[in-house]
Amino acid sequence: MLIIHILGVLLLACIAYLFKKLSLSGMMVAIVIGVCIALGLGLEGLFVLAAFFISSTFWSSYKKNLKETEIVEKDGRRDGWQVIANGGVAAFCSLLFLLTKEPLWIGGFIGALAAANSDTWSSENGSLSKSSPYHILKRKYVERGTSGAISIQGLWAGVLGAFFIAATGTYLLYEVHFNGILMLILLFTISGLIGNLMDTLFGAVYQVEYRCTICKRTTEQLKHCQRKTVQIKGISFVNNDIVNLACTLTGAASGTIIFVLIS
Ligand SMILES: [Zn+2]
Repeated sequence: MLIIHILGVLLLACIAYLFKKLSLSGMMVAIVIGVCIALGLGLEGLFVLAAFFISSTFWSSYKKNLKETEIVEKDGRRDGWQVIANGGVAAFCSLLFLLTKEPLWIGGFIGALAAANSDTWSSENGSLSKSSPYHILKRKYVERGTSGAISIQGLWAGVLGAFFIAATGTYLLYEVHFNGILMLILLFTISGLIGNLMDTLFGAVYQVEYRCTICKRTTEQLKHCQRKTVQIKGISFVNNDIVNLACTLTGAASGTIIFVLIS
């Protein structure tokens, strides 16, 4: 059966590459992550990963022409670092489950993916928001797509995104009675939101930001208007991938802790 699961992973990764949703490095990392998840959590784990990947890719592509693309560093194709930042922690939890058979690592797995999904749904929907988002540390309204800013539309999408993975993951991976399932879904939704909140706060404080010397816009890009940009905030190596890694690690930690507390 494992061979069939791995073939499924290869097929999905190749389709994502052909449709330009993953770069070559992104495809290779996705295959490694998929195999780790197949080994630890089988077909059910892969379904949860697919629920994250397919729904996030959908929201990233949705109304793409209306989104602000000047600010962010990378294009729509996810590269290897982006895939590690979003799926690496979940793959690691899956391997820990394979080695220990402790159900708390399933909690970490669901928490990590719920956080990644919550963050992707909220940033992709938030950038379509009609009103300007509010920056939690600067305490003012800023340009759409800025890290550390929150909009109502993005917040709701984040709640639904966390819930979507919490529900799919709990249903497929935990065999508990009905009341138990509802409780776990609620708690993993909260884990995902905690991860998303960490992403916003960590991004607001530490994520590197540059300013274009020509058009004076704030950006994550090293070059703008064909000129080198100047750093105005954050730590130089803390890009969006590091922030996403903090998000998924926090989601996994909350999922694990919550699971230990209730069991
Ligand atoms: Zn510029």
